[in-house]
Amino acid sequence: MIKILLAKNSGFCFGVKRAIKMAEDASVVNEKVNTWGPIIHNPQMVSSLQEKGVVEINDLSEVSDAPVVIRSHGIPLNEKNSLSQKGMELIDATCPYVSKAFDYASLADNEKYTIFILGNPEHPEIIALKSYIKNEYHIVQSNFSAFEKSRFGKCAIICQTTQNEQNLEKLILFLTKRCNELRVFNTICNATNVRQDSTIELAKEANLMVVIGGKNSSNTKMLATLCTQFAPTYHIETANELDKNWFDSANTIGLTAGASTPDWIILDVYNKINKIVGNLDIFATNVHDIPGYKEEINEC
Ligand code: SF4
Repeated sequence: MIKILLAKNSGFCFGVKRAIKMAEDASVVNEKVNTWGPIIHNPQMVSSLQEKGVVEINDLSEVSDAPVVIRSHGIPLNEKNSLSQKGMELIDATCPYVSKAFDYASLADNEKYTIFILGNPEHPEIIALKSYIKNEYHIVQSNFSAFEKSRFGKCAIICQTTQNEQNLEKLILFLTKRCNELRVFNTICNATNVRQDSTIELAKEANLMVVIGGKNSSNTKMLATLCTQFAPTYHIETANELDKNWFDSANTIGLTAGASTPDWIILDVYNKINKIVGNLDIFATNVHDIPGYKEEINEC
């Protein structure tokens, strides 16, 4: 029988669970609820919330009298202010880890540090984070060559919560040689760390990895990147993308899922792979029943 294992801590993280619960609770007492942008980076979950009256808006002209949920990645200060000025009821579902990064950005900015933001400049969390900085900042990912010849006085590092620690270590090493003082705010969240560690652990054991989650989800993409170092890897959003040819020579298949992937999608993928590989007597009805499953204990 072909083994199919799920990486520990797969699926929804604390911040996403919290945001979705806040939106769902609001939908119970309001006919309509809006979210400012997609509440999480998972198109299937966004559609499922739509059926409960939770509808994404992206422009002030779309604002009605429905309460507006601020997503777990947070939003830029000017957008938050505009919504408040419009008299909207705001339900702030910004993850506490993300809010902490915003606070550090303000603090470092007030103390006149040149801030290096380690993250994807197009990601909503980074777009929101930079709105808390009035002075000099630079957004970097894994290539710092533009600063090869630079010298700085005081520098601070703040990370996108879904960054990996290797990139942070590289940036610390790079800046240490180029500034007089370096202050590091390690804002990589625990949920990201535990998902990445468990995924690597499983990818080392498996001979094929399937990573489940939004193609627009940074943390899911990061899991896929990490897996490719150890095993052939496929990143899918739903079970419909599975291809039976992938599994021809695999005898241990690893599954992992990003922090914004709902349990029902993980379950669906698990059951479909079992069918494809001929494990016909295996069918899970709860993600807890998938071998390897272990729920995240979050201390945030
Ligand atoms: S990945 Fe971390 S920072 Fe992002 S929402 Fe989840 S718990 Fe919060």
